[in-house]
Amino acid sequence: MIGQTSAFRLARAGFSVTMFDPSPGHGATYAAAGMIAPSAEIAPGEEENYVLQLRALPSWRSLSVELSEVTDHQVDIFETGTLVVGWDGSDRRLMSQYAQIAADFNAEIRSVSRNTSPEMFEGISGRITDGIFIGGDAWLDPDQAMRIVGSANERLGVRLVHETIQSIRTTPDGVEAISAEGEYRASIGILATGAEHLPHGAEVTSENVVRPVRGMTVRVRGIDRSAQPTIRAFVHGHFFYMVSRPGGYCVLGATSDERRDPIIELGETQRLLRDALDVVPALDSAAILDSRVGLRPASKDLRPFFEVLAGGRWAWSSGHYRHGVTLAPLAALDALEFAVATT
Ligand SMILES: Cc1cc2nc3c(=O)[nH]c(=O)nc-3n(C[C@H](O)[C@H](O)[C@H](O)COP(=O)(O)OP(=O)(O)OC[C@H]3O[C@@H](n4cnc5c(N)ncnc54)[C@H](O)[C@@H]3O)c2cc1C
Repeated sequence: MIGQTSAFRLARAGFSVTMFDPSPGHGATYAAAGMIAPSAEIAPGEEENYVLQLRALPSWRSLSVELSEVTDHQVDIFETGTLVVGWDGSDRRLMSQYAQIAADFNAEIRSVSRNTSPEMFEGISGRITDGIFIGGDAWLDPDQAMRIVGSANERLGVRLVHETIQSIRTTPDGVEAISAEGEYRASIGILATGAEHLPHGAEVTSENVVRPVRGMTVRVRGIDRSAQPTIRAFVHGHFFYMVSRPGGYCVLGATSDERRDPIIELGETQRLLRDALDVVPALDSAAILDSRVGLRPASKDLRPFFEVLAGGRWAWSSGHYRHGVTLAPLAALDALEFAVATT
């Protein structure tokens, strides 16, 4: 998502862009639920990240308009808000702690109950009678967004090369990227490799380090709650969410492990589905469509970065952790600023 949106921003500004990726759209982006949910994602100590994310929704709206000018298709953005609930007594205490932190961040939250807002609790277990509604949160479908950005890039002449870049270097008048198939030259280069290792020759500072945090989502066809807020639950001490798209397509998520091997474990799938059925028993007869795994690129302070490498012609855009879909239009602006300043 970061590479594709950056390529779009550059191509739209008139730069000639070549993008290298052996399997575009199949990194962490493939597993993402697509929430643009700064308030639901509030965590202690992440205030700066929260403020950054508040800029994401307006920038997605304008990116969507620009994409439709190029492709006639816009990225649909659903501004449904989020409903936060707790499963048992200790989960409800976690919910109250979350509400306290969200209030400290001045997030737009209010208490709701099944009695006063029954539609918000549709499909949710009858033992959950109240929750917190967060306004301002939204979601989009990353599969749709990637299709549209990809098609916009094609129309703008972005050359997509399905190769892995193994090493890079800076030359007196530009940059070189080397794959098993060939050597390519340009005036500048941007590395947007998510949680993957950087190509050889990338001289980064020790300031920024990325570690993979594996996560998994399960997609099912079940109930259609697309007119209702996204569900976020504290359940058995875990986090669970369900993003419901029109037509009953639901994304259930997500696991989180400090692991690099991109496999889906039986146990984690069982725990995720157990949490899902506890919170949303109406999913009982839902059909499983697929499970997707991805590596979230987490930086030391969990904030994204755009680092210009030694020599000034290569940059590294990463660290978007659990917010890369949200922050992609902002990362693309960093890429444009770098390109304009360097060329
Ligand atoms: C389970 C899960 C749920 C998530 N949910 C959300 C969400 O709801 N909202 C949100 O905002 N974020 C979410 N995220 C986070 C988001 O998915 C990531 O932050 C984002 O996808 C990172 O994008 P990226 O482009 O940096 O990395 P990636 O999507 O991993 O893409 C990196 C690309 O680089 C390519 N590549 C790597 N090395 C090379 C090389 N040497 N040469 C050429 N190409 C290379 C790979 O093939 C890949 O396509 C979620 C993540 C996970 C795992």
